[in-house]
Amino acid sequence: MAFQPIVSVRDRTITAYEALMRSTDQAMGRPDLMLGAAERLGRLDDLGRAVRSAVAKDASRAPAGIRLFVNLHAQDLSDETLFDPSAPLSQIASRVVLEITERASLDHITDLQERIGRLRGLGYRIAVDDLGAGYAGLSALALLEPDVVKLDMTIARDIDASATRQHIVRSMAGLCTGMKMELLAEGVETGAERDTLVACGCDVLQGYHFGRPAFGFESIPSDRWGPQ
Ligand code: C2E
Ligand code: CA
Ligand code: CA
Repeated sequence: MAFQPIVSVRDRTITAYEALMRSTDQAMGRPDLMLGAAERLGRLDDLGRAVRSAVAKDASRAPAGIRLFVNLHAQDLSDETLFDPSAPLSQIASRVVLEITERASLDHITDLQERIGRLRGLGYRIAVDDLGAGYAGLSALALLEPDVVKLDMTIARDIDASATRQHIVRSMAGLCTGMKMELLAEGVETGAERDTLVACGCDVLQGYHFGRPAFGFESIPSDRWGPQ
């Protein structure tokens, strides 16, 4: 697994890392290729289990008190091992935020809310990933009642030049405060995007500007935080 820092700009600290799958196999160089192959081979469950075991193993090297964000494929929600209290990741569930992408259709999971409830019962927190990119949008928020909302990176891109997207982030920040959800913007690549997002009320950020995914838990170069 590679790990990418998630930061609080206000506190100038790393609050979490997102775990992202990687393969040394040339033909499987990107997660979408791995996920596509697993889907074709009917091995999505195996891949999801391998990811969760690898994160649980790497977690012992993560800085204390730092949360780990772990991506789920929609199909992982139908795998009973995810809900097994003795599974490796369940042991550290209170440190883990499970990301469910808004891009995937969750319609076919009939008992979705019950399953999310079971995950919460194990101690996991829930994030909606890629909000603004898919079709479910706000209904995903109503359905999952997530602890964390991750805005799709198309929202962050050049936000300093888009009054419309600044409005969206300000409104989302208000909505998230009201609903006691944490708002996070990913794909932050420049200091101007960072400063604009913070000014719009989104202080928890992730992106190449702060650090790329790496094999290890890397720190943030001191020049990335911007003005005090
Ligand atoms: P995602 O969950 O939205 O992850 C963010 C992706 O954006 C990652 O690509 C990350 O490397 C990249 N990224 C981070 N910061 C920036 C930035 O500032 N600019 C740009 N342009 N990109 C940035 P990656 O690692 O290639 O993963 C692609 C997708 O594959 C992920 O999108 C996620 O949907 C899926 N994925 C990755 N790892 C896992 C996993 O362990 N399990 C599952 N189910 N899906 C995964
Ligand atoms: Ca993600
Ligand atoms: Ca995302």
